[in-house]
Amino acid sequence: MAVQSNGKANSLIKIPEIKFTKLFINGEFVDSISGRTFETRDPRTGEVIARIAEGDKKDVDLAVEAARYAFDHGPWPRLPGCERGRIMLKFAELIEENIEELAALESIDAGKLFGFGKTVEIPGAAETLRYYAGAADKIHGLTLKMSRELQAYTLREPIGVVGLIIPWNFPSVMFFMKVSPALAAGCTMIVKPAEQTPLSSLYYAHLAKLAGVPDGVINVVTGYGPIAGAAISSHMDIDKISFTGSTDVGRLVMQAAAMSNLKPVSLELGGKSPLIVFDDADVDKAADLALLGILFNKGEICVAGSRVFVQEGIYDEFEKKLAEKAKTWVVGDPFDPTVNQGPQVDKNQYDKILSYIEHGKREGATLLTGGKPYDRNGYYIEPTIFTDVKDDMIIAKEEIFGPVMSLMKFKTVEEVIKRANATKYGLAAGIMTNDLNIANTVSRSIRAGVIWINCYFAFDRDCPYGGYKMSGFGRDYGIEALDKYLQVKAVVTPIHNSPW
Ligand code: NAD
Repeated sequence: MAVQSNGKANSLIKIPEIKFTKLFINGEFVDSISGRTFETRDPRTGEVIARIAEGDKKDVDLAVEAARYAFDHGPWPRLPGCERGRIMLKFAELIEENIEELAALESIDAGKLFGFGKTVEIPGAAETLRYYAGAADKIHGLTLKMSRELQAYTLREPIGVVGLIIPWNFPSVMFFMKVSPALAAGCTMIVKPAEQTPLSSLYYAHLAKLAGVPDGVINVVTGYGPIAGAAISSHMDIDKISFTGSTDVGRLVMQAAAMSNLKPVSLELGGKSPLIVFDDADVDKAADLALLGILFNKGEICVAGSRVFVQEGIYDEFEKKLAEKAKTWVVGDPFDPTVNQGPQVDKNQYDKILSYIEHGKREGATLLTGGKPYDRNGYYIEPTIFTDVKDDMIIAKEEIFGPVMSLMKFKTVEEVIKRANATKYGLAAGIMTNDLNIANTVSRSIRAGVIWINCYFAFDRDCPYGGYKMSGFGRDYGIEALDKYLQVKAVVTPIHNSPW
């Protein structure tokens, strides 16, 4: 089984001091009105790192009031786009000046790999800000040629005060995926980070202020989903919700939006994505990709390739290689540069994954690798691969959100399209083949928001990303994401002085 790191690297990294633990409202760090706090824990040990202000409805009301004032009377929506862009560029620079500290915060709060955070995730967050900073002065409407004696143009105006509710698996990426286009559009906002991972969002609020983002534009309310999150989705004075999280909570958010002020919502939800490996694929490369597809970020990624379908001609060879490669996958302290996989985010998630593994065993699937937790402190789980999985088993149907793969065999293209689509989700899919006809047919037949051919996790901020079916609707990233934060207003005048 995967090798355990010795955890020595821990001593080489400076564990950051926790500087920001309060709500950020109207440009100030403040206690919650109730004075209550909640714990955030280090998944490497289960120990408490800090106590964080617990926001509730009253705090959300204050944050909305600040954001509303900043939208209705403040400079942000009225600034020339290039000025907003300039401040966003400064914000990006400040992130880069603090990369190590931010990456370390994510490692102790979410169990994420420090090296990856330092080289990819945190620099990527700054790049997302820059991408949308460049768009801030290019938001234009259209001039319309009307069929009657009228002329019209459209204005694209910021939608208003937006509620941004984000999950714990990529706290920095998610923060900027939503905050950056909202800032560029000229919106003001309330961000609700997940209760498991509040630390980086509060740090970003501090950097935003230093960069010159005016007070009230970005507010961060930490707290529990059913309390602070629900207060955001049902608020009468929030104009739009952009949510990323589970399908079950997405439904609650949409319901609350409908039952309050009918604010529009966009939802980025769960997935059970297929990775399909055809007979002509390079087996070695495909096995590498399949392993990464399920184990990256300890399987806590919505687009995880959790159902791997392999064509019968190469199945045996693929299975053998996959098992060998899984043995070299290193699980341990996320600060250790030799480690591939850190601890699951918290005890709940750890217990949930282990209970899915037990389901798999009970339902008759066979363990190729893993299948249990590590006998040590913290929430470490073995890379787990099940074979003999049937499409209707719970492990093949439900999102596990952990390092657990269902490996399955198929015969024909038609069969695998049908089986890959037999899910309520539709977030992503991977196809491994050199046959252009197969690649084209399958990519057009799978109902999912992104199809990766001979690659996986090929994210780029230029490329829109989001779900089909119960994986949600609306797109993050790409220029498309700006649309979520804009309204279209039509302005119509008669060409001649007509009476109507
Ligand atoms: P979650 O749905 O439990 O929580 C997400 C956020 O919603 C958190 O901030 C939480 O506090 C808040 N929340 C919880 N209950 C709420 C309520 N009643 N009203 C309003 N807000 C509420 O999800 P999670 O466990 O943090 O994240 C894991 C899930 O997120 C997985 O299902 C995963 O697939 C999904 N996810 C999707 C994407 C995507 O882009 N599609 C990306 C990352 C994660």
